[in-house]
Amino acid sequence: MTTELPKARLKRELRRLYHSMDFVSRHPVLRDGHRRGQGTKLAEIYQQLGLAWEFLGLRCRHWDGYGRVAEGKQACRICGKIRGADERWLLLPREGRKVIGRKSVPTSGKVFPKQKTARLLSDAIVFHGAKLSVEVQNAYCSSLPGFDQDITIAADRMVRLTEDDIVCSLDASLISVELRGRRPKRGLPYSAFLWELPRKRLKAFPVMLEYDRRGRFVGITIFKPARSRTMRRPRLSTQQSLNR
Ligand SMILES: [Zn+2]
Repeated sequence: MTTELPKARLKRELRRLYHSMDFVSRHPVLRDGHRRGQGTKLAEIYQQLGLAWEFLGLRCRHWDGYGRVAEGKQACRICGKIRGADERWLLLPREGRKVIGRKSVPTSGKVFPKQKTARLLSDAIVFHGAKLSVEVQNAYCSSLPGFDQDITIAADRMVRLTEDDIVCSLDASLISVELRGRRPKRGLPYSAFLWELPRKRLKAFPVMLEYDRRGRFVGITIFKPARSRTMRRPRLSTQQSLNR
């Protein structure tokens, strides 16, 4: 195992890559019109080295800061990434903490004319079989069928976790748990506050409320109904079946 620091190692790898890119780009074949076939091959190799550069750059934490380059832009002194440019890929460590993005919240008190311009983030990940999505938006105007006037959709941050047929959603004002397999086929389910329901009905609900000494609500536990509790074997994809 190497004891070299990630920064030093990356710098060395990038230096080697830059040498290879220089070697290819300055190759005499590229100036020789008669050997066009080889030139095409070299151009392709240059493209592939560019891809390697992109992937190596994902390991860079831009430790040495940015330097000025053309057109008033700034580029990382190590990997050459332009400051603020979009990145197409993410790099995560296999072991340890995996972080993607920072906590994003609505940024404006303004009501935007369209959902598209109000949207700040809409992203999702499937992580070992559980799906997590995050949407963040500023307020925007929307027309709803059956309403004459536009309504304002509030600024919000919505987080949704889906595991099998159970969906847990959180937004600025609600925490909700939905058992998708039990939803009515048509229309919405009934809903009521606890105190509105008769004890007989409550006894059928597998729900436990948690509260502190002062009677403040601190949490809720829901026992999974039998159907959701069964651990279904994951279906193998065609590729996995072939590898068996
Ligand atoms: Zn960098």
